[in-house]
Amino acid sequence: MRFRYVVHTFGCQMNVHDSLCMEDVLRAAGGEAVTTSEDADLVVFNTCSVRERAEQKLRSEVGKLLPLKRARPDLVIAVAGCVAQQEGDKLLARVRHIDLVIGPDNVAELPALLMEQMAGAPPLARTEFDTTAPRFLTATPRPGAAPVVALVTTMKGCDERCSFCVVPYTRGPERYRPAREVVAEVARFVDAGAREVLLLGQTVDSFRDAELPPPESDDPDETQFPHLLRMIAREVPALARLRYTSPHPRHATASLARAHAELDVLVRHVHLPVQSGSDRVLRRMIRRYTRAEYVERARRLVAARPGMTLSTDVIVGFPGETEDDFAQTLSLVREMGFVSLFGFKYSPRPYTPALRLVDDVPEEAKAERLARLFAAIDELTSAHLSTLVGTRQKVLVEGASKSEKGDLSRDRVQGRTERNEIVHVEAPGAAGLVGRVVEVDVTRANRHSLSGTLTAPAPPPPKRADATRRLPLFQET
Ligand code: SF4
Repeated sequence: MRFRYVVHTFGCQMNVHDSLCMEDVLRAAGGEAVTTSEDADLVVFNTCSVRERAEQKLRSEVGKLLPLKRARPDLVIAVAGCVAQQEGDKLLARVRHIDLVIGPDNVAELPALLMEQMAGAPPLARTEFDTTAPRFLTATPRPGAAPVVALVTTMKGCDERCSFCVVPYTRGPERYRPAREVVAEVARFVDAGAREVLLLGQTVDSFRDAELPPPESDDPDETQFPHLLRMIAREVPALARLRYTSPHPRHATASLARAHAELDVLVRHVHLPVQSGSDRVLRRMIRRYTRAEYVERARRLVAARPGMTLSTDVIVGFPGETEDDFAQTLSLVREMGFVSLFGFKYSPRPYTPALRLVDDVPEEAKAERLARLFAAIDELTSAHLSTLVGTRQKVLVEGASKSEKGDLSRDRVQGRTERNEIVHVEAPGAAGLVGRVVEVDVTRANRHSLSGTLTAPAPPPPKRADATRRLPLFQET
């Protein structure tokens, strides 16, 4: 079967990764990627429902396709991801020009369902969790064309029940990928030219695998995630950098801190979502830690490696959040010295426990608190970036960098330090540095990034195969 497809992605890195896997599935079935819906036979919207705005955006984007669908009734419009799982059949009833609704665990069935649609089948929703036999799709790296930073899934679903979050409903219970499969995928990416790997999971640090040694202590929050990190470091020595997102603070245990202290491949940065600095709000959010416990765990991570930095997520205006609660969040942000932060206004999500609470913080108060939160983090970010001016940093070059006017050039690239600071570098032939770790003298702190100069002229472009080494580890699964 030959067909042309386009995948539009909304939301987080999990969704970006899911879209790459979806494209692999479609290519294997004879699909050819195009860039616009007008040129496609299949349009997929891979959706996010964590924030209300992402869902609204989906509705508006799907709505725009109505004239095209009227002109070309054979066009197949599919909605995948969290909104698909959340709404199922209801989405088909509400938006009559959608043909397919497909949950995150049903992506492998997409080509077969597409064929049925092309043959004239009625609209269909397939949203079943694979709880008994979990399947993990992989995005296959093409030799020499692997991304500099590869995304690798370790688990899916979530067993936490944070009262504001729809994820346990849209992604189902936690299921873990076997460690050997994760390590094999990391090795495949590195073999194909990737330099950094970002391990993905809703609570990535809750990882378990019966084949790994037991957790390092009796602490009930200990997991086997540190074992997974050690296994990757041991089995894939050519990997330059290893990150993970998002850990749950409950599992930021002593053995995770030890892994950071001992494994050079782990970057000196952790994104550790806190959500609030008020114990009263944390309880209502069902986060299952107190402010003091968060601080203790975060400090233990920071102490593990010199120069370790933290970033976080914060929700403002959760039901019942008082001015005093918010002041405690601000004080926590300052106390921890986060270097960056994602801040959101609370919005009620369907099927979440927090719906039983009254969304009583007025919209203006939410907006005002968010502005104060951003002002606080801007100060911290700026102070942190300023301390780096005049230092020399190892930067993994990820790709072209836009100028202030928005144009791209072969002489301007951007990359990240091992702590995640974005660095812009301008030098003749800099595009040849993509995929390399280079030394950069930092000359300027920008609002959210750094600028710098190379300590040595840009070398000729690397042969990607030289940058890594072939590591036949396991049978591909
Ligand atoms: S840990 Fe909480 S916020 Fe994170 S995905 Fe699970 S329920 Fe949602």
